[in-house]
Amino acid sequence: MDKIIKNVLDTLEQHGFCSYLVGGYVRDTLLGIKTFDVDICTSALPKDIHAIFSICSNNYGGANLKIDNYNIDITTFREESKYVNRHPEEVNYITDLASDLMRRDFTINAICIDKTGKVIDCLNGINDLNNCLIKMIGDANYRLKDDPLRILRAIRFATTLNFAIDDELMLALKKNASLVSTLSGSRIREELDKILSSPNFKKGLKLLDDLGISKLIGLSYDDCFYTSDLMGMYVQVKVLKIPFTNNEKSNIIRITEVVNKGIINYETLFNYGLYINTVAGMVLNIDIKKINQMYKKMPIKDRTDIAINGSEIIELLNIKPGKIVSEIYSELITEILSGRLKNKKSDIRKYLLKRK
Ligand code: ATP
Ligand code: MG
Repeated sequence: MDKIIKNVLDTLEQHGFCSYLVGGYVRDTLLGIKTFDVDICTSALPKDIHAIFSICSNNYGGANLKIDNYNIDITTFREESKYVNRHPEEVNYITDLASDLMRRDFTINAICIDKTGKVIDCLNGINDLNNCLIKMIGDANYRLKDDPLRILRAIRFATTLNFAIDDELMLALKKNASLVSTLSGSRIREELDKILSSPNFKKGLKLLDDLGISKLIGLSYDDCFYTSDLMGMYVQVKVLKIPFTNNEKSNIIRITEVVNKGIINYETLFNYGLYINTVAGMVLNIDIKKINQMYKKMPIKDRTDIAINGSEIIELLNIKPGKIVSEIYSELITEILSGRLKNKKSDIRKYLLKRK
């Protein structure tokens, strides 16, 4: 166990509180997947956690520590409470681990490791981990109704881990899939991001289709290529009911424009820049190395790279500033990118005078 994590567990224990690693960190570590997102559950109350680690901010009755690369979430043992619009009406803090595990979603997310590294597996999570199975803790039907985010979490884990969904859970998913429409766009997006970030994303899309969730959230796609960039995925998988920032929207539009051209060349690199072209290249299945090489070789990457400026053009051609100058600029860009004109002031001057 990493020293940093052990330190956090030891600190809680030294103050008289039980503490365990749990959730995604344990699941992924047992599967041999390296992760820096750590979940710790403890008998310490939020106020104790805040005092022990000198944290002022309160977040969902727990605390978040950022130590080196680690993002550590510490939460107090709690019981499942009645949910209202996906938020527990009240949180019941408790002192024993077993009941805290019962309120968790899937058995593979309820395996614990104590400070000595001992695995505590009250709900047979290890067995399901070995059998590659997503199994709900308790009555699947009831637990999905209580918190429909679990519907998307089930699909997410089935996708990212390439696990099968247990029969009882699958039946409950079919019954309750429509409850996804009660989730906020941003919660849906968080899970979709994780599904689409997986090279196994097609499994997730099929589950979303088969369960009728795609229709509910306005998700559609044709043929899709896996791209390590999430925006590349959202260029291919359109989803109406999730939020995007203005910057993301603009990137999606610009990547789509290059994808629709079907080619990466000096012109697309000049007009859209390296990032947009790289992602478009991924969608078009074009070798990224080739795109980078092409970008390096470009005689100009930007308007400011042109060896003559606006006032020099105006003076040389004795023209007035305005549209004509920008038309001349566009022409110069085309000529220089095509290789017909060298990006040298003397050559450009000669070209402009001859053109006049
Ligand atoms: P990852 O961090 O890789 O996204 P995770 O399983 O750790 O996956 P978190 O959101 O960090 O997901 O949650 C930590 C743990 O809290 C989960 O493993 C699970 O035990 C519990 N949990 C999270 N969300 C829910 C939920 N909606 N219902 C029940 N338990 C949940
Ligand atoms: Mg986690």
